[in-house]
Amino acid sequence: MNQIFTTQPVADLKVDLHCHSNSSDGELTPQELVLRASNQQVDVLALTDHDTIAGLRSAYETGQKLNPKVQIISGVEISCAWHGLEIHIVGLGFDPDDESLNALLEQQGEKRLLRAKTIAVRLQQRGLEDCWNKVCCLAGEAQITRAHFARLLVKEGWVSREKIAFKKYLRKGRKAYVSPPWCSIEEAIHTIHQAGGISVLAHPLDYKLSGDWTEKLFQTFSAAGGVATEVAQCQQTPNERQKLTDFANKYNLLASQGSDFHFVGSRRELGRSLKLPEGLQPVWSQWLATFPANQ
Ligand code: AMP
Ligand code: MN
Ligand code: MN
Ligand code: MN
Repeated sequence: MNQIFTTQPVADLKVDLHCHSNSSDGELTPQELVLRASNQQVDVLALTDHDTIAGLRSAYETGQKLNPKVQIISGVEISCAWHGLEIHIVGLGFDPDDESLNALLEQQGEKRLLRAKTIAVRLQQRGLEDCWNKVCCLAGEAQITRAHFARLLVKEGWVSREKIAFKKYLRKGRKAYVSPPWCSIEEAIHTIHQAGGISVLAHPLDYKLSGDWTEKLFQTFSAAGGVATEVAQCQQTPNERQKLTDFANKYNLLASQGSDFHFVGSRRELGRSLKLPEGLQPVWSQWLATFPANQ
């Protein structure tokens, strides 16, 4: 893990550094995910499940067995609380055995469990019988997320689509929303760095913040020592990619890219439409093994 070997020009590598397996709210097992990445000609993949690294080992082993290999970079997407908002910090290239990182993820997992139980109570009060058992059954071994509740609400016929479940029940201000006491942005960054990894501000334009608040978010991230931002996402306009390029340049951040793939059949696909604009320094330049072909 965490070294990229290539005999082809680095610019030709297909890199996806943000996706989810069924260790959190993705649909595919880590193994299926890596096989899919391989079918999509992805060379380098980071599995970035929400607050868990439980799927990493299986992803890595699958990637190693393939020919050509899918090279796996360790990853995680940590939920942080910031001014009443939930901000996601991706960690990449860390040591998966690091004790402090594992302790932080354990705490986050406990908070997830508590939050999920409270959400279940709220939905049950509104008539969704046996909600806790049903959501546990649906989530299986996964870290429970709001996406699981959204799926349950669709399955139970309460809403037609997951998006509507968020709109009506699960998003901030709605009846089943529970504000989680996630760790701070500073704590996430510090812990990722201590584990030898790189911190990445995830999908900075997806929080629907005003220009001033987006600026403030970048200032906070940068002041806390954050080193990279996602610039290329699977579904974004050229204008959004340009905005993120400008932020990366302004705050002197490395650039990352990722599909945020969750499930088959969505418009997001592993490795799709990901290309960094010229002039940015890719975050994966950190892990390139020194082959003559890379120079
Ligand atoms: P959580 O981390 O438990 O708060 O769950 C957040 C996850 O729910 C995100 O990572 C998305 O995968 C999913 N999600 C958030 N908002 C929406 C939405 N409006 N429609 C569908 N899925 C969403
Ligand atoms: Mn998700
Ligand atoms: Mn996210
Ligand atoms: Mn994500």
